[in-house]
Amino acid sequence: LTGGSTSNSIRHIRGSAIAKIVGNNVLAMPDKFDTEVRMWVFEETVNGRKLTEIINNDHENVKYLPGIALPKSVIAIPDVKESAEGADILIFVLPHQFVRGVCKQLEGKVKKEAIAVSLIKGFDVAEGGGILLISDVIREMLKIPCAALMGANIANEVAKENYCEATIGIRVKEHGAILKDVFQAEYFRIVVCDDETTVEVCGALKNIVAVGAGFADGLGYGDNTKAAVIRLGLMEMIEFCRVFYPDSNQSTFLESCGIADLVTTCYGGRNRKVAEAFVKTGKSIEELEKEMLNGQKLQGPPTAFEVNYMLKNKKMEDRFPLFTAIHNICKGNLDVKKFMDCLKNHPEHM
Ligand code: NAD
Ligand code: 13P
Ligand code: CA
Repeated sequence: LTGGSTSNSIRHIRGSAIAKIVGNNVLAMPDKFDTEVRMWVFEETVNGRKLTEIINNDHENVKYLPGIALPKSVIAIPDVKESAEGADILIFVLPHQFVRGVCKQLEGKVKKEAIAVSLIKGFDVAEGGGILLISDVIREMLKIPCAALMGANIANEVAKENYCEATIGIRVKEHGAILKDVFQAEYFRIVVCDDETTVEVCGALKNIVAVGAGFADGLGYGDNTKAAVIRLGLMEMIEFCRVFYPDSNQSTFLESCGIADLVTTCYGGRNRKVAEAFVKTGKSIEELEKEMLNGQKLQGPPTAFEVNYMLKNKKMEDRFPLFTAIHNICKGNLDVKKFMDCLKNHPEHM
């Protein structure tokens, strides 16, 4: 992929904060990369103008990342097929609810040698009671390898260039160096590891725990309680990998994709914020998502559903009381006031 006369063409399936990093990196390494990063943008009208036009003329995503200048190398394109044409590297950053729809449009349209990287947090439910990784969906539908980049990376902080770290999980050893070149910046430090599955599972599961942290905040408990929710959440994340992904490596939980992302989301993320409001207002999660997030999408409640779909099917709900209670509360099947009761007899205390 590197060197020679051909430089790698990068295509971005949304995600403006990371497009800013990638857009700057291609400009700094014109020998390695095409200096245009095409970014697919789901078209919408903002203040009477098309969002792609705003991004291409003003170099700012005024709806989803206001106040941040995007490099001129980032070109917004409203047609997903056109945006992905000729790509050597495809970066996926969109709410996981939409990944199948997008891949469907790209089926048979991407280069055979292309590689994908998923920054998407969540699962896909599989017929027969199981779940798939989002990278599995990309691999299966597009017939290309897929790595995962996850970490403690709340978008607006990344965009402000505040120091943070991320983990890239790869399955093909040769992809490590090139992907590190694509994503690393002075303020965005990358560790590459070969445990792609755990990297991705951590990124998905921590959003469920963040909903629990928001419930604890909404119920008025303090930092000790939130720390307990975080710890029990981490233990369930580890147990989940032990049971369903036995090749998982425990040291991966110590990378940014594990403990660090869990902590940042339980303090600063959208899932936490909306879950707190859910307790305080009594409104539904769907209502609050619309009211509070200006078109952004929560990943925690649907991920809790996906995980529960499998746990219920395998009769394993009681081994994961935190994940299970959070799902039931989001669905209105359990009063949020009972949240702590569900944790008092956690397998960790037996
Ligand atoms: P978001 O929550 O801001 O979602 C809104 C985006 O979804 C909009 O850009 C909109 O154009 C798009 N959208 C709406 N309808 C769509 C459709 N039908 N098809 C395709 N796209 C549609 O998105 P995000 O914050 O960029 O999150 C994307 C992924 O990145 C998620 O898996 C998330 O967990 C992950 N992630 C987010 C952050 C963060 O801080 N925002 C950090 C790390 C990882
Ligand atoms: P939220 O979706 O809860 O805001 O979390 C963002 C994130 O994944 C940070 O890494
Ligand atoms: Ca090229």
